[in-house]
Amino acid sequence: MLFGRTDRKPIVIPPKQVKEWKYSVCNYCSTGCSIELGLDDKGAVITSRGHAGADVNRGKLCIKGLQEHELFTSAGRGTEPMIRNRYQEEFQNVSWDAALDYTAANIKRIQQKYGRDSFAIVSTGQLLTEEFYTLGKLTRGCIGTNNYDGNTTLCMASAVSGYKRSFGLDGPPGCYDDFEHTHCMMAFGSNLPEQHPVIYWRLKEAREKRKFPLIVIDPRVTMFAQFADIHLPITPGTDVVLLNAMLYVIFRENLQDKGYIAAHTNNYEELYQNVQDYDPVKAQHICGIDEDTIRQVARLYAKAPAAMCIWTMGINQSTHGSDGVCNINNLNLCTGNIGKPGGTSLSITGQCNAMGTREWSSCSGLPGYRTLENEQHRQEIADFWGIDPEFFPKSRGLAQTDIFPAIESGAIKGMWLVATNPMTSMANTGRIRKMMEKLDFLVVQDCYVDVETNQFSHAYFPAAVWAEKEGCHTNTERRVNLTRNAVKPLGNSKPDFWIFNEMAKRFPNGQKIRFPQKPEEVFEEMKVLSKGADRTLDISGMTYDKIEAARGIQWPFREGTEGLKGEPRLYGDGKFPTGNGRANLIVVKFKDNNEKPDQEFPFWLNSGRLVEHFHTRTRTGKIANGNKFSPTPFMEMNPDAAKKLGFVHQQYVRVVSKRGDAVVMVQLTQRVPPNMVFIPFHYHDCVNRLTLGLLDPYSRQPAFKQCCVKIEHVDQTEAAQLNLERRKY
Ligand code: SF4
Repeated sequence: MLFGRTDRKPIVIPPKQVKEWKYSVCNYCSTGCSIELGLDDKGAVITSRGHAGADVNRGKLCIKGLQEHELFTSAGRGTEPMIRNRYQEEFQNVSWDAALDYTAANIKRIQQKYGRDSFAIVSTGQLLTEEFYTLGKLTRGCIGTNNYDGNTTLCMASAVSGYKRSFGLDGPPGCYDDFEHTHCMMAFGSNLPEQHPVIYWRLKEAREKRKFPLIVIDPRVTMFAQFADIHLPITPGTDVVLLNAMLYVIFRENLQDKGYIAAHTNNYEELYQNVQDYDPVKAQHICGIDEDTIRQVARLYAKAPAAMCIWTMGINQSTHGSDGVCNINNLNLCTGNIGKPGGTSLSITGQCNAMGTREWSSCSGLPGYRTLENEQHRQEIADFWGIDPEFFPKSRGLAQTDIFPAIESGAIKGMWLVATNPMTSMANTGRIRKMMEKLDFLVVQDCYVDVETNQFSHAYFPAAVWAEKEGCHTNTERRVNLTRNAVKPLGNSKPDFWIFNEMAKRFPNGQKIRFPQKPEEVFEEMKVLSKGADRTLDISGMTYDKIEAARGIQWPFREGTEGLKGEPRLYGDGKFPTGNGRANLIVVKFKDNNEKPDQEFPFWLNSGRLVEHFHTRTRTGKIANGNKFSPTPFMEMNPDAAKKLGFVHQQYVRVVSKRGDAVVMVQLTQRVPPNMVFIPFHYHDCVNRLTLGLLDPYSRQPAFKQCCVKIEHVDQTEAAQLNLERRKY
């Protein structure tokens, strides 16, 4: 018997007439998938495919990567430089020289009147590494402001801080290949299948071949939690308690790796004493995980021949994000799980080149993980660039999350935003709006003229996007990969690299410092700065051709290295760059400082990503199916909680916090408990109107995920209208 239509005509997609394939790397998340861009006979990019020979993605791409080639001609691209006197006025198209002169004059005016640091520069994790290095040269060497940071402070600063405190250096010590060797994985605050789908696919393949326990720690029953063997629905912001309680069990039951601790760590006694306060009997009431489960998970992890932790924003975006990272490192150091196959602390980075900015942008110091506080480092870079070392500050300036409040206080008067969109991405956007309005001068450099923050700018620089440029990214596992220039920049937009070089000409030190004209020449300069037996971040053996041939090479990859394979893991020899060569066990105490649900605001507010969108939708909001699949801001709500308040599925509601309100559509789901709601963070005028964003004391990263809200009825017709206005693409 036949079911369904018998005359079915399958949809046939005609093959695209590709004349040439160009090599590239995805410009969204940090997975680092290699992509080939298909060009037709007129040189237009008409399709893309995952590179089958790339170790990272082995031919796979997620929905964002598959559609990424549509970026080049997507709606909202900026094509001409523009200026205006006041941000309420109409922009005028001008030449690049006029826009650059106007901006340089305003930077100098502000710096002369209010001091060098009164002009801030905030960049991104999405430029190419050569562009980050050049921006660092321009900022540190020519403009000379110390208030310079990247938006990576919103996503990875806690991981950076935690790595530095534990191991003495930033840089994830593990790699994706660890999935093939581990015997137990704990994943903290990471919804891998939606956030990093191709990394998840690698993990899934490894687990299909060799079953090992997966423990997911997340307050939501995320997609990842649904695939886990054990899901720990932790109380928001209490991971420190869970980890201390696990260490308590490990020490109490003598499961620690005493040999590794004795040979390779500092501070064991202090750590041991500290965790005595975290008996699981007590801890369970704080972290919400029952004592038996804490014991079971601790035993499972400590007894595994090799065990690893991965994490994302659930750890980093917290008032104790840096402590949380240190505590993951504590767990791995105490169980001997650093630097061995399948045993590691692997932070899953957010943006495609968050690592590149960490390594080379000079945001938190000087190039190649050098610091401003180190006199020798200042001298090295000053000599290399040919300027006076006294031009450099002697300690780091403000982080992004402190730069914005400094506009309120009047310390910052002008700002240059490069490929970042604080009007959507920062916590408490109502307050950010007032700060933007207060700026004496704002220049926005972005591929998209309609990026929300541009409404407050006085100058707009249209930047080229992705493979309209050439240069490198570093992915989550320290793999440097290459994007080849596939097409010309749209209209009169220019590569960020070109814009920085042109701006440098307008400052006195720009005449002294050499600014190479090609990204590959910049890469050669970075290689020289990376070289040295004592340098872990060593890329001196790489070339563009080698990187492309290998489809990415992990650092360190020293000059003279045979073949095309870098080091997959750091600290395999148990030596750490800490002074005495041992890793630091960090004492971490729980401080209960979050805004928590109460009678007036009874729900935890959680936020996170969707697979279809990237960050503030500046790009994915314009791309075909990504936006069609997920066009509307929504809120996950537990059906029991909704029933009590009289809300039904797909009804619009107003969510209210002490900062502001947002209108969203209710999606009923058991993924969230009755005392929690979840809203994706991608949409403008949405979840970040509500968030509090208290800062981590070490990393200055905001706690986006720990605040509370109430939910109110709203007029459905008005809300639907508002929603339509939002869906402008
Ligand atoms: Fe791009 Fe990340 Fe998707 Fe890979 S997983 S295609 S890097 S967005």
